[in-house]
Amino acid sequence: MSLRHHPSDDILTAYASGALEAGFGLVVGAHLEVCATCRARVGTFEAVSGAALKSLPDAEIGADALSNVLARLETQAGASDRQDTRPLLERLSLKPKKWIAPGVWVAAVNTPHAKDNRVYLLSVAPGMPAARHEHSGAEFCTVLKGAFRDEVGLFQAGDFAAADDNLCHLPVVEGDEPCLCLFATEGRLKAQGLLGRLAFAYADV
Ligand SMILES: [Zn+2]
Repeated sequence: MSLRHHPSDDILTAYASGALEAGFGLVVGAHLEVCATCRARVGTFEAVSGAALKSLPDAEIGADALSNVLARLETQAGASDRQDTRPLLERLSLKPKKWIAPGVWVAAVNTPHAKDNRVYLLSVAPGMPAARHEHSGAEFCTVLKGAFRDEVGLFQAGDFAAADDNLCHLPVVEGDEPCLCLFATEGRLKAQGLLGRLAFAYADV
């Protein structure tokens, strides 16, 4: 599998330090599952932050030391979750699938997230109208099956996409099979068109 699109180092650093919200971490984890290059980078970032913690002089260990250590332990607990060898798709806890149009379904993922955020699987059959949308926050996406194309390029299984504020894009399913993607979306999605609005509304948990 030749992956074309990877998370930035900023995203991998945030992932390694446990700073990402769980759903966003899941989307990055779905990419790491199939990308040895990014797994190695995360390993490096984890080692660097661990070494930085150990090298702190005693005098600098202040009142927040305990919470820092707890955060670190949580990160390590997350790491052991990642050692579950089942494919990520089988490990996800999903709400029931909701069909929102012929060939299009969405299933919310059970994971802690902020009230306005959404974590969900979206499957779109070839030939379905795409959900053109804008963002008011970040959106992470990893393709699990199939492929889509947008203004940035072709995204195939394993590829990672991060959209920033105010990006308006029009993904189109590529090829003959449905495109299944794992999304984490921050804030309110300004979907244009009925399909986009329905997908976002139905992904509510
Ligand atoms: Zn990668």
